[in-house]
Amino acid sequence: MPKTITITGAAGQIGYQLAFRIASGQLLGDKTKVNLKLLEINPALEALKGVAMELEDCAFKSLGEVTITDDASIAFGGSDFAFLVGAKPRGPGMERSDLLIENAQIFSIQGKAINHNANKNIKVLVVGNPANTNALIASANAPDINPRSFSAMMRLDHNRAIAQLAKKTSFHSSLIKKVAIWGNHSTTQYPDINNALINSTKALDLLGQDWVRNNFSPAVQKRGAEIIQARGLSSAASAASAAIDHMNDWEMGSDEGDWVSMAIPSDGSYGISEGIIFSYPVTCKDGDYSIVQELNLDGFSQESIKASELELLQEREAIKHLL
Ligand code: NDP
Repeated sequence: MPKTITITGAAGQIGYQLAFRIASGQLLGDKTKVNLKLLEINPALEALKGVAMELEDCAFKSLGEVTITDDASIAFGGSDFAFLVGAKPRGPGMERSDLLIENAQIFSIQGKAINHNANKNIKVLVVGNPANTNALIASANAPDINPRSFSAMMRLDHNRAIAQLAKKTSFHSSLIKKVAIWGNHSTTQYPDINNALINSTKALDLLGQDWVRNNFSPAVQKRGAEIIQARGLSSAASAASAAIDHMNDWEMGSDEGDWVSMAIPSDGSYGISEGIIFSYPVTCKDGDYSIVQELNLDGFSQESIKASELELLQEREAIKHLL
């Protein structure tokens, strides 16, 4: 059975990477045919036509039909997986609250289109910022879809944390397990390696708290800015790669003995307000996720997690008329 995959903002930097990787079978394996539905705003449709031509020219064995459109009801028609990447970037002089409101409108329209047109078991990943609150708005506008179907991306931060540990210790990234990113996809996020293992040894025994607080956390939090400075553009290939990791683990299951970070509707675990889209360490199995429970959080961790929760509650307050 072919699967329908929707990508919004598909002519943008991240979308341009994502479409080709998914079409080549890197999301669901090359035995599963995928039909791509690519959504853009009207002025970007011409560029999107070029993306569709290039997809055709790849002659991917796993690619079925490609639809390009500026109509959300077409883009989400029968969708099994949706990557909501397109979002309005922050303009000069724009406050975070203006950004929230501008994007809230886009995501409420898309939530409604998902509700009316998508497969009821759709899995939705929001990448466009402010991702967590955009996911909340999309979900609130899709009352017939289980809120657990809506998530926001923390996986790039998770992968960046692993990369920093690998670089510091010279162990390969595949030997680094149980890293967690808590909270909002913003500077308040809390990268946590209190339970992390590096080649089966506790990370903190190898690295010590000083390095973690003074070097590791800032390095993860500022990596995006560092890439912009080097490349002159925001990270795109690594963001697309993380989006595929997120959706692939959610659908196919995460690695045994490890966990991943996903922003999902809080069920109140660890005292976080219910309903906000909050990043937790999770394990995935049989197409579903479970929050890793009963982790001991020290005072610093609890304070950091609370600060990120507070920011998400403020974001929710700013767009409450759209919920
Ligand atoms: P990108 O493809 O680089 O980024 C898209 C979104 O992903 C932005 O909101 C960006 O946030 C966010 N993002 C999240 N995590 C990351 C990360 N780690 N690195 C980089 N970005 C991240 O943007 P482009 O401007 O190249 O493309 C956006 C496309 O979306 C355009 O083609 C535009 O036409 C389209 N669009 C579509 C809409 C729709 O389908 N209705 C609505 C609005 C735009 P941040 O800006 O904070 O970096």
